[in-house]
Amino acid sequence: MGHILENIAPIFIDGKWEKIKTEEFNKVYNPASEEVISMTPICGKKEVERAVESSLKAFKIWSKFSYVKRAEILFNYRELIKINKEKIAKIISLENGKTLPEARGDIQRGFEVVDFACGILHLAKGESLSEIAPNIDSRTNLEPLGVCAGISPFNFPAMVPMWMFPIAIACGNSFILKPSEKVPLTAIKLAELFQEAGLPDGVLNIIHGGKEVVDSLCIHPKISAISFVGSSHIAKHVYTLGAKHGKRVQAGGAAKNALVVMPDAEPKSTMNSIMSSAFGCAGQRCMAGSLLVGVGKNIDSLKQTLIDRSNKLVVGDPIKNNSTEMGPVIDGNSKERIFNIIDGLGGTGAKVIRDGREIKNKEGFFVGPTLVDNVDSSQPIFSQEIFGPVLSILNPKDIEETVEILNKLNYGNGATLFTSSGNTARFFSENIKCGMVGINVGVPAPMSIYPFTGWNDSFYGDLHMQGKEGVQFYTRQKVILSRWDNLYEYKSGW
Ligand code: NAD
Repeated sequence: MGHILENIAPIFIDGKWEKIKTEEFNKVYNPASEEVISMTPICGKKEVERAVESSLKAFKIWSKFSYVKRAEILFNYRELIKINKEKIAKIISLENGKTLPEARGDIQRGFEVVDFACGILHLAKGESLSEIAPNIDSRTNLEPLGVCAGISPFNFPAMVPMWMFPIAIACGNSFILKPSEKVPLTAIKLAELFQEAGLPDGVLNIIHGGKEVVDSLCIHPKISAISFVGSSHIAKHVYTLGAKHGKRVQAGGAAKNALVVMPDAEPKSTMNSIMSSAFGCAGQRCMAGSLLVGVGKNIDSLKQTLIDRSNKLVVGDPIKNNSTEMGPVIDGNSKERIFNIIDGLGGTGAKVIRDGREIKNKEGFFVGPTLVDNVDSSQPIFSQEIFGPVLSILNPKDIEETVEILNKLNYGNGATLFTSSGNTARFFSENIKCGMVGINVGVPAPMSIYPFTGWNDSFYGDLHMQGKEGVQFYTRQKVILSRWDNLYEYKSGW
């Protein structure tokens, strides 16, 4: 047990780090070596209660901090993240398996949200109108909600939690984070740095776990808002349960994103973008391109170049080998699930033209780049999120047919078009039914000043994460009307 205790991922309640013994633990792997690097305690209602109690206490104090003081702590945090960026990237790479450049991108995207939140004085400024009626002034305040909670997935251990807590906290809320039990170590480092930046105890608490903790957060009467990111069926469950219990909920779900290549696309940059969108982070991005739509008659050379590039892709341990271009998937279950999907393609009409199951690496949860040809919208692989390095290829006749096919998808995160025609780009961006569109951009994930606008089954709720919508989500407006006329002048002796 002594050995286990050493490796237990601590919880963070009321400014104190605690290694607790729970009945159940989740193993945290280095996915490249299959070595167990930590154990995540699966917390229960007791830890939820303690976190809520601490958050409520902290909210009373934190919500009264001046905006200037809050911004000062955020600026300190920003600086500490910058200094520790490489350390954080290494933790991400170790527990998630992405390459170091990808891990740097993960923390950079989170850093940009802190950057955005540093501007809270501008963001939280209300509107005012003097003399709206005789002697009457009107103004709005953006007030924090109270205790907010965030539940995050394994694939972006830094960026996704940072879509949530920096903005919530900048707005004056306290926050309970439940990171993915598969990657708890990055969140721990992020909280340590926020504490070092001067964040008062209890403003950010971290607990670990799975369904029991998540459901307890969704129904807890003292929690005002829930931010969730993960698979769609759980996103829908969290949205429904949280809303039923009177909470504001934003819940990001799964995706199936298309990369559409027109015959007039510039070949070299298009191919680079396809490779990095489909196989970057081993295909485990919610914005990963997983459908390649080669529009027009002859796409044989496009397929051949893809096979050649995939054959050359360096798949391996991102920490031991600097030249690694694609790391492993997150765990053994994920690898098995992806292998099973490829196994099941026989008889559907789809054809594997590059098989990622043929992988040399003995240890580690590796899946090689996989290309599946002859896909059409009637096959399950067209609409199913695989969340691995598997790219399905379609060949419609023109852009109109492309849009018609892609609009059958239930998900609605992103779609990209590669073209040199402004007209085609305009037609595509106006008619495609998804929230984030790329024109010659392989992964059209918006920067922190814009919301992350998933549509359909990729998002449940009204206000998205990041940008002004993020601020609106974590605040509620109060309209203050004041009347000051002679009638109310203080008369001594009254
Ligand atoms: P997941 O749904 O398995 O887990 C997400 C979170 O939910 C974790 O914290 C997990 O502990 C918790 N959870 C797991 N089972 C639960 C249950 N039964 N009830 C309540 N909570 C539960 O997702 P994942 O595998 O960690 O992440 C991958 C998924 O996340 C993919 O579908 C991907 O597309 C999606 N994702 C979406 C976005 C977006 O912005 N839309 C961004 C990143 C990832």
